[in-house]
Amino acid sequence: MLGLGDRVQYLKGVGEKRAAQLAKLGIVTVGDLVRFYPRDYIDYSDPCGVLEAPYETPCVVRATVFGKQPGVRVSGGRTIYRVNAGDDGGSLIITFFNSPWAADRLEEGRDYLFYGRVGGGFGRREMISPVFIAAGSDRPMTAIYHQTQGINSGYLAKLVAAALDGLGEEALADPLDEPLRARWRLPGLAQALRMIHQPASRQQAKQARRRFAFEELFCLEVGMKLLRSRSRRSAGAPMTRCDAAPFFAALPFSPTGAQRRAVEQLAADFCGTAPMNRLLQGDVGSGKTLVAAAGMAMAAENGYQSVLMAPTEILAAQHAATLDKLLGPLGIRVALLTGSVKGKARKTLLTAVAAGEAQVVVGTHAVLGEAVQFARLGFAVVDEQHRFGVRQRGLLAGKAENPHLLVMSATPIPRTLSLLLFGELDVSILDELPPGRTPVRTIAVGSALRGRMYGFLEKQIAAGRQVFVVCPLIEQGEEPDPAGELQAVTAYKETVAARLLPGRRIGLLHGRMKPAEKEEVMRRFAAGEIDLLCSTTVVEVGVDVPNASVMVIENAERYGLSALHQLRGRVGRGAAESFCILVSDKDNEAVRERLAFLCHTADGFAVAQYDLEHRGPGDFFGKRQHGLPTLRVADAAADAAMIETAAAEAGALLEKDPELAAPERAPLRDALARLFDAAGGTAVN
Ligand code: ADP
Ligand code: MG
Repeated sequence: MLGLGDRVQYLKGVGEKRAAQLAKLGIVTVGDLVRFYPRDYIDYSDPCGVLEAPYETPCVVRATVFGKQPGVRVSGGRTIYRVNAGDDGGSLIITFFNSPWAADRLEEGRDYLFYGRVGGGFGRREMISPVFIAAGSDRPMTAIYHQTQGINSGYLAKLVAAALDGLGEEALADPLDEPLRARWRLPGLAQALRMIHQPASRQQAKQARRRFAFEELFCLEVGMKLLRSRSRRSAGAPMTRCDAAPFFAALPFSPTGAQRRAVEQLAADFCGTAPMNRLLQGDVGSGKTLVAAAGMAMAAENGYQSVLMAPTEILAAQHAATLDKLLGPLGIRVALLTGSVKGKARKTLLTAVAAGEAQVVVGTHAVLGEAVQFARLGFAVVDEQHRFGVRQRGLLAGKAENPHLLVMSATPIPRTLSLLLFGELDVSILDELPPGRTPVRTIAVGSALRGRMYGFLEKQIAAGRQVFVVCPLIEQGEEPDPAGELQAVTAYKETVAARLLPGRRIGLLHGRMKPAEKEEVMRRFAAGEIDLLCSTTVVEVGVDVPNASVMVIENAERYGLSALHQLRGRVGRGAAESFCILVSDKDNEAVRERLAFLCHTADGFAVAQYDLEHRGPGDFFGKRQHGLPTLRVADAAADAAMIETAAAEAGALLEKDPELAAPERAPLRDALARLFDAAGGTAVN
């Protein structure tokens, strides 16, 4: 009997060399093998006749073999074997190169189903190297697997079949229990494995795929909920005075309803017994910082310190300044800790943190450093979460006994996806912008209009405004660019911006500059000493310069809409009408349609949904670092409804059996361990 953990090397027909090749496909154990699902199928159930077969399109043709021609040697030392076949309507030549055994397998007088492309011309029809089965076979579907050097699809099919025949009952214990499967009409594991590898029909293959997608989503949700409930069992930083009224009263404006609701949720969590794990989602400019600040004020009121971690130095500095403005009047001291705070200043700062005198610490990942010891950390905030992984969040949380954690995301994420990515977090949403914002006018242009565009920029600058220009590269040649169409910011600054805006002050900002240099440029831009800032996407996150009124994005086709929306959010923060100009010469319909969508949509959630549907979930998953599994079968866009169902079922199960302790849960526990171990992190067991 085979077990799932057995190495494929010990299967018949697999030696060391094959095992190494299989490993390239991610197949090491028998478990990996049976869960290496086909990428497609050949469906032999509905063949066409010779004359109906379309030219140059993969199809299945039914034909009788009439005779074989002797092999013919052609130049290059190859030998061609031709087989004459056909039906009542016409004749079809089946051709194989160098493989007499393929032709040998065909018997004269018998009917076969050939899968391939029909080529030829002038009434002559030919199929080159088709795949085939004898007509009347009881298995009309053949699985097609991803292949690699030395491992072809047919070989994999045989190997899988051998594994399925050899697996013991125990190995096929189902992580999805019977009642659950019955509720959602899902086939059992053993049956589903047969159905996905050796389906009798397309319908069967589909049913099986649906089951495995469900299983994957269900396990993911159970795993994440388990993580969450475990962290909840520990005590958080208990607070008793959770009233944001004094903080609100000190503001120069009134908070939006959405901000108030989010702050109330924070207050409730702070005063609860378990540590908070909350995701704050809100479009750019929705005022997330204010919510964090309110939390910090409440924490300080209860004698706790807070920390905010930002992805870049620039952002950290800006947050520190903002928080100082918001919290200073309440007598709360805000300290900035980044990699560039060094020597004596750093020492003084660390002492203040350790003594609890710095009530709010803002920084980059420098705040995770071992030297940073808090006197009494109660509230941790992570801004722009996708730059941080689960592990880093864990480190941050480890700075104290379970501080309350708030993760702020500026990239709106469709709800279903947030279930997948942040299922372990509670969610607050800021779905309301502060009053008085006019939407940013967005237009897409070709580079032929760049001259006119600069005329417009000149007028804006003359009116006292400032401009961002974002280019994809730092230096030319960083990426293959045969058509020479990618703009590099260093060259762009000189040859485009400085040339088209003579006499204006042009700045340069990119990720390879020293932190202090970047800081200085940003400071000068914010102070109005720079008219136009040429930058890479380092300005993407968070930076706030209310006087900037135009965002130009060169090679706009390179970015997902969410990223463009994010960049666009850098302007429109002040009173002046603002503009976003998307420059692209990619003249294909998909790009045009995508950019047009952004031109007409201001809502970040709609933009994110569009990205999800058109570009797939990669844009969202890619930003997340390791620690949680990614999807193999399920499709975050297509299976949206299933995600909701799986999440609900996972919740119901954990309600009944919070630790999955029941003996019959063993298969599920195993499945979780495999899933989360493969992701390289977060042990669930
Ligand atoms: P984001 O959610 O993108 O991080 P910020 O927190 O940076 O947004 O806020 C964007 C701008 O809106 C800031 O300049 C902030 O001072 C301002 N702001 C936030 N809340 C309000 C409000 N309720 N009324 C007016 N302005 C606000
Ligand atoms: Mg922000």
